[in-house]
Amino acid sequence: MLIAANKAVSIDYTLTNDAGEVIDSSAGGAPLVYLQGAGNIIPGLEKALEGKAVGDELTVAVEPEDAYGEYAAELVSTLSRSMFEGVDELEVGMQFHASAPDGQMQIVTIRDLDGDDVTVDGNHPLAGQRLNFQVKIIDIRDASQEEVAHGHVHGEGGHHH
Ligand SMILES: [Zn+2]
Repeated sequence: MLIAANKAVSIDYTLTNDAGEVIDSSAGGAPLVYLQGAGNIIPGLEKALEGKAVGDELTVAVEPEDAYGEYAAELVSTLSRSMFEGVDELEVGMQFHASAPDGQMQIVTIRDLDGDDVTVDGNHPLAGQRLNFQVKIIDIRDASQEEVAHGHVHGEGGHHH
């Protein structure tokens, strides 16, 4: 069986940035299980895995446009501390959910604190970065109709609901 749309796929992976630092890895834990063709993983990785078989190992460099997008300077803005009412202490690096002008929920990260000014960044933490994946395919199976309808995998490593 090869990886194709509507297959439930289990992979072991390690994600590093261009500096060689490990950002994320399934090592020491359970494999990542995802539904191919459902946008569960970044587009560049999903595309690279299409047609692969169990046991295949691959190294994939995904450019920002096929990962978390280019870094957008316009997503950085300065807010007043009063916007963060209810938060005891603000710290650089803290993350908050905020609603973007288009109504979508986004995560903003505090980049700088200066008096009453809080500089927040709405870019994904990995925006603008090339992502280097080392992947080994562990398992491929047909997804159930329910999984396809939900757009994600159920059971071990998947959603429980
Ligand atoms: Zn579901």
